[in-house]
Amino acid sequence: MIGNKFGHWVVIDTAPCPIKDVNKNGISYKYFLCRCDCENKTEKVIRYVNLKYGRTTSCGCEKKKVKIQKITNKYIGKKFNRLTPISIEKVDKQKIYFLCQCECGKQTIVEKKNLKYGLVKSCGCLKRELMTNFNKTNKKLYNNYKFYDNFIVG
Ligand SMILES: [Zn+2]
Ligand SMILES: [Zn+2]
Repeated sequence: MIGNKFGHWVVIDTAPCPIKDVNKNGISYKYFLCRCDCENKTEKVIRYVNLKYGRTTSCGCEKKKVKIQKITNKYIGKKFNRLTPISIEKVDKQKIYFLCQCECGKQTIVEKKNLKYGLVKSCGCLKRELMTNFNKTNKKLYNNYKFYDNFIVG
């Protein structure tokens, strides 16, 4: 049994059955200490039947990979204002960062949320342009909100 693979789980040792998991007839379930073969090397004591019937196949890393694939399909190559995500730069717990190509030719790293909600619209060139325009334009044309919005964003 040791060394057997169930999905990403590799059985590395036998494990005692937790006392609470002994059934009415006093028969205890078989448990094994398993290690996921992903980079996290997560170790977990798992009930044998759950392994056998594929109820658990990884530490959760597989789900994460599927999620990342979905995000890739949804964002990479699509345009968000001036930015086009070209790859996932890093994944940091709940946050995903994209390497983005800006219309002006520069590249910048932007968090997914900021792209999605348009909080970041360019590498910074949009803000610079708006500021230049603003300086050229009569300030009275802008109400405070609009000014704030254009000024902060980008
Ligand atoms: Zn894993
Ligand atoms: Zn730019």
